[in-house]
Amino acid sequence: MRLAEINDGISAAREALRGNNVYAVTDSNVARLYSQLFDGVKTTVIPAGESNKNLGTVGKIISDMVEAGCDRSSTVVAVGGGVTGDTAGFAAACFMRGVNWINVPTTLLAMVDSGIGGKTGVDVGGYKNVAGAFLMPERVIVCRDFLQTLPEREWLCGCGEMIKHALLDKDIWRETTAHIDELISRGEAAYPLIEMSVRYKESVVAADFRESGLRKRLNVGHTVGHAAERLDGFRLSHGEYVALGIVAETGMFSERLDGVFLRSVRELCGKVCRHPFPIKDASAITDTARADKKNSGGNIVVMLPTGEGNVDEISLTPDEFEKRLKKCLSDL
Ligand code: ADP
Ligand code: ZN
Repeated sequence: MRLAEINDGISAAREALRGNNVYAVTDSNVARLYSQLFDGVKTTVIPAGESNKNLGTVGKIISDMVEAGCDRSSTVVAVGGGVTGDTAGFAAACFMRGVNWINVPTTLLAMVDSGIGGKTGVDVGGYKNVAGAFLMPERVIVCRDFLQTLPEREWLCGCGEMIKHALLDKDIWRETTAHIDELISRGEAAYPLIEMSVRYKESVVAADFRESGLRKRLNVGHTVGHAAERLDGFRLSHGEYVALGIVAETGMFSERLDGVFLRSVRELCGKVCRHPFPIKDASAITDTARADKKNSGGNIVVMLPTGEGNVDEISLTPDEFEKRLKKCLSDL
């Protein structure tokens, strides 16, 4: 697997867009903020927002590509956050049965997480990422200067997944706990942490491309996090729900965890998400978690970080899950 290229300025992105037979895809915010990047480049601009991550947008990209004279040797260059990368990557996987693509992630979340690993896809009928394909981008070009224009909420969103990576790797944990305030406030120490996070995600993907084993550990915080996100109507950013999910899931198994570790987890997550846990109804969370595509055989799976980068996979009956969650929610 080729590693992501990590740059300071955005000139590597500019050069990629000036490549041979390139077709660009970006969203309306990125197109407005970085309009000069797309001058003279055939581009589809998709409206910003998760609601546009759908098959209609994929169809639009593909028909625009046909009309622009693209062929099997064309390269799709996605410049944007996770929505742009997922949608454009999927369009690249479908266009003439698959063409190359290059990902230029411009949000923190896309740089450290969704933009790495070749998972592409869109939402269908209100279900997230249920239509998709695995297609590794030929290159991932990370340019930290894109982060200068990123709104606070989107920064915190990326921090949620970075905290998750910290739970999965003891070196990242050590550095993150030492520099958490600088990470949150976008200080200089954030950037080595971002690089560690990118490399960590790459190592997990390299070991387990199709999510049969190791990659499952990336679901830490996501069983409860995804359910809360859906039930709460996506009011907060994804990474904030991940932080809330980590607090809830570790709280559900507090008897198995070291007290000092548990307190650090709560402290870190509390810096990423300052909102209280939004859903008090344990039974609604259980029903939503049960419907998650990652569960099988009627049980609900929680990936529990236990310290030092270790993770236990725990499979619970819905009744047991609800009982533990109810108890933990009353303590939050
Ligand atoms: P994510 O990366 O969180 O999955 P999106 O692709 O929806 O999600 O991006 C989140 C928001 O950030 C969108 O409104 C998008 O237009 C905006 N955005 C993306 N990159 C930048 C940037 N570098 N500066 C400012 N806003 C950006
Ligand atoms: Zn996530």
